[in-house]
Amino acid sequence: MYAIDMPTRFRGITRREGVLLEGPAGWAEFSPFLDYDDAESVAWWRAATTSAQDPWPTPVRDRIPVNCTVPVVAPEHAARIVHDSGCRTAKVKVADPGASLSDDADRVAAVRDALGPDGQVRVDANGGWSVDEAVEAVRVLDAAASLEYVEQPCRTVEELAVVRRRVDVPVAADESIRRAADPMRVRELEAADVAVLKVQPLGGVAACLRIAEQIGLPVVVSSAVESSVGLAAGIALAAALPELPHACGLATTSLLSGDVVLDRLVPVDGSLPVGRVAPDADALAAVAADTATRERWLGRVASVRALAEAAG
Ligand SMILES: [Mg+2]
Repeated sequence: MYAIDMPTRFRGITRREGVLLEGPAGWAEFSPFLDYDDAESVAWWRAATTSAQDPWPTPVRDRIPVNCTVPVVAPEHAARIVHDSGCRTAKVKVADPGASLSDDADRVAAVRDALGPDGQVRVDANGGWSVDEAVEAVRVLDAAASLEYVEQPCRTVEELAVVRRRVDVPVAADESIRRAADPMRVRELEAADVAVLKVQPLGGVAACLRIAEQIGLPVVVSSAVESSVGLAAGIALAAALPELPHACGLATTSLLSGDVVLDRLVPVDGSLPVGRVAPDADALAAVAADTATRERWLGRVASVRALAEAAG
């Protein structure tokens, strides 16, 4: 069990916690966010147990191009993150309640400057805009940085479908897939041009491959800000997809101040290697959860596992 601090607040959290488990196929991670209830955590449990039990699908590539992630920071800081990452694609968080549209425009412009004209800049609003706000923001941000796509501009899949018809920039669906009762609504409503898939919330590598096939859209594999052990499962999914036209959101170990391995999954020249990752005893000891945290996770594992087994 690990508990790792996050140097920059991300998704409203400053500490990431999770459990590692080992099975015949190797190590896996179970790390639903703390605000997810047991029912929503069942998919995360299935992802962890299938990763530990079953071999991953055969990879068709051995490195995965990845984007760096720029949180809500000042433009100079944003440029430095892009520069230090070595990545050719940057994902910029926008529509944060604490930042205005002109702050967002300054940040994406700084990122475009740092990448140069050949790089790709995508923005993620995490559902933070209304339809009208999204249409205006996409116009302003596209003028500032020429966007690759805008991820989850609004909260609902219906709103995404309307935005997609009113802007020229491609729309990517993230929360509309991973927190939706039916991920295929995105396809039915033609609500997106790109599908963002995350292994843990969608029930595992094999489950995501099935969704990718059914949804019929280019896929971007993203992490749930896991340790390197959990990230390796996302990399395995990206490695097995028949086509991978966009960089993936898997370069997220930089959001964590520590890891469960000594040799962290950090991009080199903008890509990550494919393969199983096992925790290292010394690294794990340095990020071990305290007793109260362990107790809490043992309780969580027991109740989520019971729910998963009851569901069959
Ligand atoms: Mg997202």
